Amino acid sequence: MIRVGVFGAAGRMGATVCRAVLDDPELELVAAVDPMHAGLDLRQCGVDASLQMARHAGALLDAEADVAVDFTVVDAARDNVAWCADNGVHAVVGTTGFSDDDLAHFNDRFGKGAANAVIAPNFAIGAVLMMRFAELAAPYFESAEVIELHHDEKVDAPSGTAMLTVARMAEASESWGADPTEKLVIEGARGAEGPSGIRVHSVRMRGLVAHQEVLLGTTGQSLSIRHDSYDRSSFMPGVLLAVRAVREKSGLTVGLDTLLGL
Ligand code: NAP
Repeated sequence: MIRVGVFGAAGRMGATVCRAVLDDPELELVAAVDPMHAGLDLRQCGVDASLQMARHAGALLDAEADVAVDFTVVDAARDNVAWCADNGVHAVVGTTGFSDDDLAHFNDRFGKGAANAVIAPNFAIGAVLMMRFAELAAPYFESAEVIELHHDEKVDAPSGTAMLTVARMAEASESWGADPTEKLVIEGARGAEGPSGIRVHSVRMRGLVAHQEVLLGTTGQSLSIRHDSYDRSSFMPGVLLAVRAVREKSGLTVGLDTLLGL
């Protein structure tokens, strides 16, 4: 049995992770941390388990958690991830919005201690494949734009998935065409400029979950690579894969690619 604690257990993703852990016979949900909801029973958050929400990360040590899963907000996740490194608890992190400096810092901390970490901006296996396909396609096209679409409560933009997709496409090819725009009628009409000038557009809309389309163009043809997460359950196979793998994956692993053998 792997003993699992969840940071952000009262949140949309955290509660879904709690349910997925409870449904998995090889995992045991031993701690739930969410400061603003401390003292609540998990049942009050729609999770069918009698476990009280804790205020502090220390609850994971008290419960002897092997692995902590974090789906919170980036400022909280920075502290939670550092706490895991300091306290020898393996971390599986889905919170988005980390900078390159954050990742470099985590790389140092997890390289030395007893704990490992898997950080992935998207745990949906289809989205991991979408990023890989976009990277493979990049050298054959001169134009590319990424449109990411999310629910209307997402606080960061562009999404971590869009940022990682663009970084990987830019790394895979140097020959991207210049933006032809000479006059912007409305500021921002061309979206945000990512690495190598690849444009990223963020749509926020009630009713959506997490979606992304990568558009690639060259003479006389275009290629669209689209992934849709219709429900938060789409992320759970990837989260559970990481929970199982993190103990054996030394140091920091970013993305699910190596866990999937891509
Ligand atoms: P959410 O519903 O707002 O949940 C976040 C939860 O974390 C809230 O209950 C929040 O409490 C709690 N929290 C804040 N500070 C905390 C702390 N220090 N310790 C423990 N809990 C804390 O957000 P969500 O939709 O679940 O998304 C969470 C994160 O996951 C976002 O960064 C999102 O982009 C990311 N995400 C990643 C993936 C992926 O596959 N990697 C998929 C979906 C979402 P309060 O509400 O009281 O602040």
